[in-house]
Amino acid sequence: MSRAADRLAKLRREFPVPPSDRVAPLLAPMIPTAGDEFAQLVASGKVIVAEIGKAAPNATTFHFQEDASHLVTVNSGLIEFLDAVARALFRATTVYKETTVPPEGDIDDVIGRLADLFCAWQAVPGSEESAIDPTRIPLPPQAGSSAALLAAESLRFILAHELGHVRSAVLTKSTTALSRDQEFEADAAGVNLLLATGIQQRMAFAGSVVALRALAVLQSMGHVFAGTHPPPLDRLGALFKAVRGFVPDPLDYCSISTIASSFDEMMDQGNMRRLGHMEGAALTVDRIVARLYGALIECLNRGFPSPEALGQMFLNDIHRTPPDMLPVLAAATTRLFYPTIHARMSYPGLPRMREIYFGLLPGLPEPARTIFQTLADNNLKEK
Ligand SMILES: [Zn+2]
Repeated sequence: MSRAADRLAKLRREFPVPPSDRVAPLLAPMIPTAGDEFAQLVASGKVIVAEIGKAAPNATTFHFQEDASHLVTVNSGLIEFLDAVARALFRATTVYKETTVPPEGDIDDVIGRLADLFCAWQAVPGSEESAIDPTRIPLPPQAGSSAALLAAESLRFILAHELGHVRSAVLTKSTTALSRDQEFEADAAGVNLLLATGIQQRMAFAGSVVALRALAVLQSMGHVFAGTHPPPLDRLGALFKAVRGFVPDPLDYCSISTIASSFDEMMDQGNMRRLGHMEGAALTVDRIVARLYGALIECLNRGFPSPEALGQMFLNDIHRTPPDMLPVLAAATTRLFYPTIHARMSYPGLPRMREIYFGLLPGLPEPARTIFQTLADNNLKEK
């Protein structure tokens, strides 16, 4: 028996888990993508990933020098924590507004739950009880399964991050303290592994962002993170950059970043309100483009929002955009509709999407109208 297996057996005697390990099924799809060497380590029991029944929302990696084995434990409390965050987020989205059970919470509800959790941690120092119960956040069935998917991808990102540490320990044969750079590398390698695994890329990106944004909110409440991990906001910025590098095509990037950007903005916005900054979260080119693209997809696929509602939404963003940001924003939205990208994507909805986009431009206030219209005329009109 490897030292890792030995330690796991001990931990499980002390902290029994539910009958089925909720972590193992998440690992399986990542193994082929992670490479042969890694697959062999898992198959031979040198790398073990498992759930243990602890309440604190953490994951821990143990390296055993004696027989070069590694154990990643995920506490049940972390699984429940991510479940609750994902459920609260889907409860606050407008996507399911037209279903029979309308969501009643809003983004303050998500932040409120994180605040409750933080207060519970402070009340009993060191115990770090998992104070949010995901089952107490009711959702319509469709939203419930989306939330389960988001929570699973969030957890998978944390697993992929920890496995990044295992990998560098295997490669360098070193188990010394980690540097900040190694933490950033583990995040980038983690999210790239999820994207390369290729199942549910949009949810994988969203899950990674939600995991780090939840940590950022907790940190702004005063939570202190142990170990070498850099501030969550720095990790979040680096994560977005890493995904941009991994998915250089603007349309591909847009199509996988819509959920990530919108949940990120929602949580940022809610937290800014909690801190008393009423002007809200920063309006960035990425966020506006993701919102526009996401709404266009929804409009085409489900007829909701209508082109009029979509136009109003875009107009609101344009009104809030500082004038010096308009040319960059116009370049980014125009790039979404380049004919070359259409040809490559051969997505049947794209001509209609472009038509709706063209319809929005005459309604923009000056100087936005001239800036957007000129770029569109130069780059998008079919010859
Ligand atoms: Zn780490």
